[in-house]
Amino acid sequence: MEVRILLGAPFLLFYFLHPESLKFVFLNQPSPEEIDKVFMRMALREAEAALAMDEVPVGAVVVQGDKVLGRAHNQRETLRDPTAHAEMIVLTQAAAALDAWRLLDTTLYVTLEPCVMCAGALVGGRVTRLVYGARDKKAGGCGSLYDIVRDDRLNHRLVVDAGILEDECTEILKGFFARRRPGGPSDD
Ligand SMILES: [Zn+2]
Repeated sequence: MEVRILLGAPFLLFYFLHPESLKFVFLNQPSPEEIDKVFMRMALREAEAALAMDEVPVGAVVVQGDKVLGRAHNQRETLRDPTAHAEMIVLTQAAAALDAWRLLDTTLYVTLEPCVMCAGALVGGRVTRLVYGARDKKAGGCGSLYDIVRDDRLNHRLVVDAGILEDECTEILKGFFARRRPGGPSDD
């Protein structure tokens, strides 16, 4: 199904109504930066869904051309699964939507820099581009601690853009950990 959208609220309305492989059209001509912010805001809505479930608030979206192939949030506690990071779940959704494990010409948006597990999955899935919000100095696998997605020794590399809506992506995480462990360090 095709839906016509504008930047902002109408887009988010359709996002809630049509979660499966949403097709979109920009009526205006947004810049690439504005398009990145639209999808990072969608990922932030997913992070908020994680927060409501008392999960570490991280959200992710996969886009290919004019389609949203998946959107997911961290569910590690809910599923009691160490692999249930937002990126892993959304990669599985995107592969199902494409009926293929190679996620060619896709962009994955995620609110927090992927860990080493997810970075490996991004390389394995041949994702074209990674856009993330908050940097993760303690566990980041995409530029902070390691840079797996741009390692020449591997057989695939991604284009990476970091720091999109970084403040919003950082704040939601800070708020979560401040409430959960007042004064204490986070382990994520
Ligand atoms: Zn991860």
